[in-house]
Amino acid sequence: MEFQNALTAFESVIGLEVHAELETKSKMFCSCPVVDSTVSNPNVAVCPVCTGMPGVLPVVNQRAVEYALRVALALECEIAETSIFARKNYFYPDLPKGYQISQYEQPLARNGRLKFQTADGEREIRIRRVHLEEDTGKLTHVHRDEETFSLVDLNRAGVPLLEIVSEPDLRSAVEVRAFAASLRTILRYLKVNSGDLEKGVLRVEPNISVRTLGSSELGTRVEVKNLNSFRALERSVDFEIKRQIAEIQTGRQVIQQTVGWDENLGMTVPQRTKEEEDDYRYFPEPDLPPLVIEPEWIDSIREALPELPDAKLHRFIQQYSLSEYDADVLVAERSIADYFEGTVAALAETPQVEVSPKTVANWITGELFGLLNHHGVAIEQAAITPQDLASLLQMVSQGVINQNTAKIVLAEMFASGKPATEIITERGLTQISDRSFITDLVDQVLSANPEQVDEYVHGKDSIARWLFGQVMRSAKGQANPQVVQTELDKRLSALRAAEGH
Ligand code: ADP
Ligand code: MG
Ligand code: ZN
Repeated sequence: MEFQNALTAFESVIGLEVHAELETKSKMFCSCPVVDSTVSNPNVAVCPVCTGMPGVLPVVNQRAVEYALRVALALECEIAETSIFARKNYFYPDLPKGYQISQYEQPLARNGRLKFQTADGEREIRIRRVHLEEDTGKLTHVHRDEETFSLVDLNRAGVPLLEIVSEPDLRSAVEVRAFAASLRTILRYLKVNSGDLEKGVLRVEPNISVRTLGSSELGTRVEVKNLNSFRALERSVDFEIKRQIAEIQTGRQVIQQTVGWDENLGMTVPQRTKEEEDDYRYFPEPDLPPLVIEPEWIDSIREALPELPDAKLHRFIQQYSLSEYDADVLVAERSIADYFEGTVAALAETPQVEVSPKTVANWITGELFGLLNHHGVAIEQAAITPQDLASLLQMVSQGVINQNTAKIVLAEMFASGKPATEIITERGLTQISDRSFITDLVDQVLSANPEQVDEYVHGKDSIARWLFGQVMRSAKGQANPQVVQTELDKRLSALRAAEGH
């Protein structure tokens, strides 16, 4: 984004560090289970290895490496044949070992990229590195009465953690949000992380600097922590950009530091000035051999990757003639995309009744999403299967029921799990297409409204619309609208002809 003032135009430059806990059964270097630390009792998933007792040895969790490789491959990274685990030394009460096992000089993967859509078109952001490490424990700071103390929960200590670092290629808060959201979607597609920012299993930390527009040097950066929503991410980046520009404009300098985001104040607050890499005294982990990845293993993981959101988006637009907007909504979750394709496939089994993919998309993103939101149900748990939805849409297309009735039926299918046909018969909701019945209705409405008919005959065309509504009303919405329209048109033009108009 460019910021213009009388003297200087600025450009913002942002790179992201993303930490994603990997949803493995056990921890990174021991057999302790990975538990949901937001619901579990504290300190129930701990052992001598993840608490760093003397004499214990870490063992690499193969599944964690596999998950990491899935992500690295999805981000089109180069995979290192040999990568090295390193100790990052620092003291913190949630780090019982006094060091974190991470990867430093030789990460698992480098030089990837992520393509995603923004309002201004497609963007491609370079991925600098993807590496494996272990999570720390969790501190809860308690302020009770006069006392202040901190509680330590080590359930999370040693949980596999993937760090994904982008190049400083992002240029605005909106873009940062879109990038993070699209990375989250990929992690969910790969089934390695739930993407739950609120729970802290996915943590996004932007590094932000500004510079004079046109300059190719990087400005001094500030890193933001404690962001637990996309909204907070976007707002904090926006705030920092403006704050840094104001600093420079008033002749001050941006100080390199780590800041926290204060949601209530809507501003970043200084936490600490940035430590240097030297401070961590990284050295290769003496208890672990280099991590060697067989090319065959990489190939088999690559082959098993699901179709990724961006590829799916382009395919949906192509194959189903959907708008980019519709396709984007459908591919946001693998389960939604599968539901859509399941419905389209079910419809294809009876090609004589035509329902377009666009219609299917509308029903899913409109009515079905409405029901899912209202009842707080995920699409996988919905009582309506893609086959059920397909048969409902076929009945609409065949004129058995109209759109409005179908919405009512869908809501009942959702609540009861009964198939559409059953609900329609039970409640006598079949749409009336019978021509003689409809012509009777038309005649009744015309004779009940002689003044309006007269106005129509003398040129007021808009009355036809009103009369149509009256007929539909007298049929309680169940008459086939096409048949009503045809019969009404016939009658009305006959009346005009008789009057010589
Ligand atoms: P560290 O690990 O010490 O925080 P890195 O050099 O690995 O630092 O960078 C972390 C992130 O910060 C990366 O996403 C990188 O793109 C970004 N970054 C580095 N320098 C800048 C800068 N001057 N402005 C904005 N982002 C930056
Ligand atoms: Mg950092
Ligand atoms: Zn353990």
